[in-house]
Amino acid sequence: MKLIFATNNNNKTIEIQSILGDEFELLSLKDIGFTEDIPEPYDTLEANALAKARHIYAINRCNCFADDTGLEIDALNGAPGVYSARYAGEQKRAEDNVNKVLKNLEGETNRKAQFRTVFALILNGEEFLFEGIVKGNISEKPTGEDGFGYDPIFIPEGFDLSFAEMSLGEKNKISHRARATHKLTHFLKNR
Ligand code: IMP
Repeated sequence: MKLIFATNNNNKTIEIQSILGDEFELLSLKDIGFTEDIPEPYDTLEANALAKARHIYAINRCNCFADDTGLEIDALNGAPGVYSARYAGEQKRAEDNVNKVLKNLEGETNRKAQFRTVFALILNGEEFLFEGIVKGNISEKPTGEDGFGYDPIFIPEGFDLSFAEMSLGEKNKISHRARATHKLTHFLKNR
């Protein structure tokens, strides 16, 4: 089955294709010649993921899904959440975002946080949502060179290493995106 994944992030496409297996052929936006940026104007991950999937479905009428992810920090009432990419400004610089989180948590002992990914799938015109969560803590300072975004300050529960200190393989065993992908895969294979 062909499935369009509404993303321009090649790493995500490779990661998700490897979990989905050969039964499904993932096509990215680039693969279908779609070059626009799809807006994410809403204030929930669910609404943004659905809006992106609906946008692509309206044009292609093809089975498709879209994702949205946020880092939700307890002591910041769930921020940066849906605004994770542009927490420290529209330039969307990961280092600035990390520094802003650390500054806002200065002196805070509750460092609990979670990454949450939402997938919105449109299959034969019907809409479905899937969620993947990994819980953890925000460290006092960034560590590690790998990964991206908030990885250097996120220590997943049960580990002493930040996501940026783990190999991609280790991170992908427990990550929010991997968990959402497993739910999506299970649904598609058992429907
Ligand atoms: P997106 O919806 O996947 O584009 O994610 C939005 C923002 O959340 C990204 O720009 C990153 O700042 C952050 N983010 C998403 N996934 C991860 C991750 O696996 N590690 C670190 N940061 C992430």
